[in-house]
Amino acid sequence: MVVVGAGPAGLTAAYLLAQSGHAVTVLEGDTIVGGISRTAQYKGYRFDIGGHRFFTKIQPVEDLWNEILGDDFISVPRMSRIHYDGKYFDYPLKAMNALSGLGIVNAIRIVLSYLKAHFRPSPIEDNFEQWVTNRFGKRLYEIFFRTYTEKVWGIPCTEIRAEWAAQRIQGLSLARAILNATALQRRSVHIKSLINEFRYPRLGPGQMWEVCTDRLREMGSEVLLGHYVRNIHTTEGAVVGVDVETSDGPQFFAADHVISTTDVRSLVRALEPAVPAAVRTAAEGLRYRDFLVVALILETENLFPDNWIYIHTPGVQVGRIQNFNNWSAAMVPTAGHTCLGLEYFCFEGDGLWESSDEELVALAARELEQLGLVPPGLVRDGTVIRMPKAYPIYDAEYREHLDRVREWIDPIPNLHTVGRNGMHKYNNQDHSMLTAMMAVWNMQGASHDIWAVNTDFEYHEEQRLESPVPATAEPADTADRMAS
Ligand SMILES: Cc1cc2nc3c(=O)[nH]c(=O)nc-3n(C[C@H](O)[C@H](O)[C@H](O)COP(=O)(O)OP(=O)(O)OC[C@H]3O[C@@H](n4cnc5c(N)ncnc54)[C@H](O)[C@@H]3O)c2cc1C
Repeated sequence: MVVVGAGPAGLTAAYLLAQSGHAVTVLEGDTIVGGISRTAQYKGYRFDIGGHRFFTKIQPVEDLWNEILGDDFISVPRMSRIHYDGKYFDYPLKAMNALSGLGIVNAIRIVLSYLKAHFRPSPIEDNFEQWVTNRFGKRLYEIFFRTYTEKVWGIPCTEIRAEWAAQRIQGLSLARAILNATALQRRSVHIKSLINEFRYPRLGPGQMWEVCTDRLREMGSEVLLGHYVRNIHTTEGAVVGVDVETSDGPQFFAADHVISTTDVRSLVRALEPAVPAAVRTAAEGLRYRDFLVVALILETENLFPDNWIYIHTPGVQVGRIQNFNNWSAAMVPTAGHTCLGLEYFCFEGDGLWESSDEELVALAARELEQLGLVPPGLVRDGTVIRMPKAYPIYDAEYREHLDRVREWIDPIPNLHTVGRNGMHKYNNQDHSMLTAMMAVWNMQGASHDIWAVNTDFEYHEEQRLESPVPATAEPADTADRMAS
């Protein structure tokens, strides 16, 4: 059995298969495991590609995390705020905090525009702008949603499908936020406890996938790094093997099953014989947002208490700033130093992506000072990690494109496409892993609908829960993931 990709989904599938006695070969194009959930390393400093919280309501995922890492999980007090025009606002957004922070005139405007949206909502809710405005009002949308969302996606909010907002911030509204803020809502204490703490591997998310890789090798499976799968061969409608590029030249791996986590566009390009032109065109229409993180090492500590800060302040390109000291002390090897991760959303090939590492480190250091987060002259070193295809884009056409591709790949009985980019779904680790688990269970006789795994699945599960995790906890947490 062949697994394409050693990210959370690929390694989860391999782990379950290996535990059931199968010999699995995981082929990973990169030289490091963990995919987007890796932990990068630079001179002993460890940092994430964006901070990765471990949070799930899916029991099999929680169990697997515990089985792999056990005592190496730490509990991290969570704090994140929005930086807007020199002020800090709570995140997830709290209505009272936002209204008081913006001043009385803005607060009145916000409430009026909220009332307008409430009593005269847009009858059409196709795009992100319409969806958010209907729930928060135009003004709050402009201040707290538009700038940042457009930074993340690189396209106007009117071109982002409402579905994305619904998946990430479902259930949150200004009225509900006010209720939460004033503690009028029943069981609000549980909301607080849920979002004030999260689990995190002591050495970052990559530790989970490094240990998982060790376990796989102990069980006799292979995890081959620097093995990029270029072609997936099919004969009479079934996969028979894959061609791999390695530094030693091409190699062929025969396979009775292929579990693929590569992005849908690359998967379609890889299929041999080539797919019909219409399917290829649909796959080429799928779009991705890329991402880079500039890790800066500063000779100072206790800069700010947040795990991360969202930057809504206009005039800078940085989208979010992580303070890895506040994730796990073990990530920062030198006492008296701080490691910050400045996150930039970009497209492969654009100005940011093409800038040299030196230019990016200088830009990040400049923007930190411009925002007033750090006094001048404290940056000692820095490095850059570029992450292509960090975000599958939910634009107006993606659903149609994906459906067209699925008509071609779904009937291939021994090709299982799972994970975030594998299904073009904006999933966190837990949902990416669940799709991998379901693929394995299906291979063992179950009949799960993998494509039904999304946040709706989570809501559905959650509504069946009684105490202690209330259904009302969902909006705040989901909103929190909106920008991750
Ligand atoms: C900025 C950011 C912050 C995030 N924060 C969180 C968080 O706080 N909590 C959370 O749970 N999730 C978070 N996520 C989501 C999480 O990173 C993903 O859900 C998860 O990594 C997806 O796992 P995956 O295995 O499906 O894909 P990936 O992580 O993308 O892994 C796919 C792997 O396959 C390899 N590959 C691809 N094509 C080929 C090929 N042809 N041949 C060989 N190898 C190939 C890639 O190199 C990669 O290693 C975040 C994501 C981002 C971008």
